[in-house]
Amino acid sequence: FQINMDEIEVLGELGKGNYGSVHKVFHRPTNVKMAMKEIRLELDESKLNGIIMELDILHRAKAPEIVEFFGAFTIESCVYYCMEYMDAGSLDTLTGGGVLAKDQKDGEPQTNGDATTNGNTDGTTSSAQERVPEDVLRRITAGMIRGLKFLKDELQIMHRDVKPTNVLINKKGEVKLCDFGVSGQLEKSLAKTNIGCQSYMAPERIKSETANQNPTYTVSSDVWSVGLSIIELAKGCYPYPPETYSNVFAQLQAIVNGAAPTLPPGYSDDANDFVAKCLLKDPNQRPTYAQLLEHPFLVADKDAEVDMVGWVNAALERRAARGISSLNPIQA
Ligand code: ADP
Repeated sequence: FQINMDEIEVLGELGKGNYGSVHKVFHRPTNVKMAMKEIRLELDESKLNGIIMELDILHRAKAPEIVEFFGAFTIESCVYYCMEYMDAGSLDTLTGGGVLAKDQKDGEPQTNGDATTNGNTDGTTSSAQERVPEDVLRRITAGMIRGLKFLKDELQIMHRDVKPTNVLINKKGEVKLCDFGVSGQLEKSLAKTNIGCQSYMAPERIKSETANQNPTYTVSSDVWSVGLSIIELAKGCYPYPPETYSNVFAQLQAIVNGAAPTLPPGYSDDANDFVAKCLLKDPNQRPTYAQLLEHPFLVADKDAEVDMVGWVNAALERRAARGISSLNPIQA
């Protein structure tokens, strides 16, 4: 079905990205709550229509680890992109960092679990910051890798922007990827300026972008970004903290030439080995998705019982305690 703005009721703001905001909306004809991303672009109508056509491939991107796409349309110079609403938001906001809209209203935790028992590997007490238990981290990682493998194998696309803000989770504990590079025209128009401050780009990508060469993307650049994202989730902050470096250049230097970051203490050798392999400086040495799925770290996830629902709800409670909400209501 085709979605248009007349059928949509805006419920509140979910967050702001680099290029526009994301709202929670209600689609009346289908009775479905969706997330609608507004991307403001200064483009003529034919280019905008080109983007809508390119986005059409997303109707084929149906997998348990991919945020479902419902449709896109344009109004004036904006592209509106409607997708599955993930009611616990992005992973960065659950594990420590992240900036979301103020005013808790929706997305409140449905506490059906004890906040002090999350996962089965540790039973530490709840606090504003809490280590992500290894079994939860492993399940999140497995979902990310399966999602990326699906994009590559079934749609022949790479993600290009793997980072914790682009990994969404819901209260059912499902982990899904969003914001992958599906439209060449859209990518070009957004002229990704996320080099700097918090870069998840692999060293080889940083090198080619700073040298103004044509960017060399390979799937293994996404593998680097997975490794960095896992560490960020475990640490609760970006692994190359900006305050450590005198400027962005020094920070990028550290990514390209410095020792790769590691997980904080307390994780298994398998977890550490997995991350180290993702963060190998030479992209050709990094494992493929198939190899990563066979890594002991992820093999252990296969039949594991992981209380993802309990973890999400406890993490939502901690997020609420930090004063971050997942929805900034527009209408009272
Ligand atoms: P960025 O440009 O940083 O990737 P986005 O514009 O994609 O950010 O999204 C901004 C924020 O909106 C996200 O961090 C997330 O909290 C929220 N958000 C995005 N998509 C969804 C969704 N499908 N469901 C719920 N929240 C979402």
